[in-house]
Amino acid sequence: EAKKAGRNTLRFFDPAMQKALEERVDMENALRQAITKQQFQLFYQIQVDTQGYPLGVEALIRWRHPSKGMIPPSDFIPLAEETNLIEMIGQWVLETACLQIKAWADCSFCQHLTIAINVSAQQFKLNNFVEIVQKTVERIGIDPAKLKLELTESMVLINVEDAITKMKQLRALGFYLSLDDFGTGYSSLSYLKQLPFNQIKIDRSFIVSATFDSIDAFLVHVVISMGQKFGMDVVAEGVETQEQFELLEILDCKAFQGYLFGKPMSGGDLENLLVNTPKSSATATHPA
Ligand code: C2E
Ligand code: MG
Ligand code: MG
Ligand code: MG
Repeated sequence: EAKKAGRNTLRFFDPAMQKALEERVDMENALRQAITKQQFQLFYQIQVDTQGYPLGVEALIRWRHPSKGMIPPSDFIPLAEETNLIEMIGQWVLETACLQIKAWADCSFCQHLTIAINVSAQQFKLNNFVEIVQKTVERIGIDPAKLKLELTESMVLINVEDAITKMKQLRALGFYLSLDDFGTGYSSLSYLKQLPFNQIKIDRSFIVSATFDSIDAFLVHVVISMGQKFGMDVVAEGVETQEQFELLEILDCKAFQGYLFGKPMSGGDLENLLVNTPKSSATATHPA
């Protein structure tokens, strides 16, 4: 027993562990100050129609860390969720996206664009989530139809009744609801019928395998036709190759997002791209 305790004590002073612990605390402190230090930035990735014409964008957060450089969301959103900092960050994302929609109202190349934001489970489960979103949009003064809220199956399944209530309220207020990463969760197709989504985003993993796995191609086809039956828009995520794009067109997909059409970029870079992309030849972004 003494030997065991000794080992545990030794483990506690393990320098590698100690270092990992310190790094986590440093990250948490840095994350806590990142908003006031204006270190967050929204990048925007275009979503296009079959002609390559931009329909809207998805806002994707980046953290410009003073010494570590640009940090992707996968490296700090989990920590933000564990520490509840996600509520503050989520509010910043919501406000920044609304302000961008407002700024684009005066830009003839951008005014038609919708912005989709990723909502975290911790934000969505708040009792006043609907009120928070509505108040923010009202205060900034934008059309709710321009804002898309991306939710995932897993966050809806935490409490389906509560989720449906909130979703119906959001729909009644004019917001557009999108189901992100579809196919990676566990919900059955019949569940989907009860959930008032406007849009399904087919996860990148299916798009990748569809070109060489005929069963996955069939599944993509099933999701697209199911979306059409339910009156939901369907977007293919993570389209990287012309081959994937052509297959998706055959499967009757009408909206696309992925590196083939554009990587996530700053608002300024996006404006430049749109100004230099005539509507009629938007297909120039992915020559056939
Ligand atoms: P997501 O919402 O599914 O976003 C799509 C991710 O796929 C983005 O990664 C995007 O850059 C990447 N992507 C887009 N097209 C392609 C492609 O053709 N190939 C490949 N390999 N990847 C592609 P990103 O920006 O690193 O974001 C990762 C995840 O972090 C997002 O997945 C979302 O779940 C989360 N996230 C991003 N921004 C926010 C935010 O503001 N709030 C919250 N709560 N989560 C966010
Ligand atoms: Mg998303
Ligand atoms: Mg996704
Ligand atoms: Mg994802």
